[in-house]
Amino acid sequence: MARVWPASAARPLSGWPRLTKTSINDLLERHDLTPSRALGQNFLADPAMIDKIVRLAGVGPGDRVVEIGPGLGSLTLGLADAGADVLAVEIDRYLIPALTEIVERSQPDAGESVRILHGDAMKIDWAAELGDTSWKVVANLPYNVATPLVLELLSTEHRLTSYLVMVQAEVGERLAAGPGSKKRGIPSVITEYWGEAAVVGRVPPQVFVPQPRVDSVLVRINRCETPRVDAPFAELSTLVRAGFGQRRKMLRRSLSGLMDEAAIEAADVAPTARAETLDLEAWGRLTRQYCAGNDNTEG
Ligand code: SAM
Repeated sequence: MARVWPASAARPLSGWPRLTKTSINDLLERHDLTPSRALGQNFLADPAMIDKIVRLAGVGPGDRVVEIGPGLGSLTLGLADAGADVLAVEIDRYLIPALTEIVERSQPDAGESVRILHGDAMKIDWAAELGDTSWKVVANLPYNVATPLVLELLSTEHRLTSYLVMVQAEVGERLAAGPGSKKRGIPSVITEYWGEAAVVGRVPPQVFVPQPRVDSVLVRINRCETPRVDAPFAELSTLVRAGFGQRRKMLRRSLSGLMDEAAIEAADVAPTARAETLDLEAWGRLTRQYCAGNDNTEG
């Protein structure tokens, strides 16, 4: 049976169509939906950009992909078209009927390669959803939860082995910032602890409906099998949060409640340095020294 599809939707040569500005506006109108600013709803409406994201994510046939916040399905269709099995987690129950309609109408065969899950990505029982296999994360993330969500997933989910996320430019640059950069902060060090991050593309506001006020970037993170420095995460996180909590201060001040100047020196770090200048190795040395100090105190 021929598939009915709005004439406004762009049709690639392969099986799944792409959403465009016209088809997104049509969907919003027919389902009486208004994009929610609180949920960061800026829908991708540019087939070329969607294909670029799928390509940069390295998604191919048989891959399992978690998409956080599928919205109306712009990226979902592109991922499915590349041959991936997609688990699409959407918090907004009002969008689900439109998303379901798009997926069902677009599916080129009887297979079910897209599973829609209604829920909050911050609260999903990922272990139950992902099983024993590894998954890729590909998402145009809502601005309000992008950083906490990425850090939480990196820190807790080893089954999520790579990420290609679209986020506000400022957020993405912070996730990938190296030592010495003014943009280096808590997200940079935590991300570096778990994997390798890089900004791999810029995205102008014009590709979205509605248009956001700021540019976005694409960030790729490959999660390593083991942390990239030999130091326990909880303690490293405590030090990093304290260090960047007062980022203008020297470490001897910002870490004063946790380590004294002698302990910072024993870790081969200058007590006069500021948090943003430290590389991951230095945070690792500080953490090991901090743990050794606590062990001695307790003993
Ligand atoms: N992926 C779609 C696209 O590219 O057009 C929509 C992206 S839009 C920037 C973000 C989506 O995330 C929205 O659909 C929003 O409802 C959803 N969202 C917001 N917070 C969420 C959360 N905590 N868990 C799951 N989805 C969420």
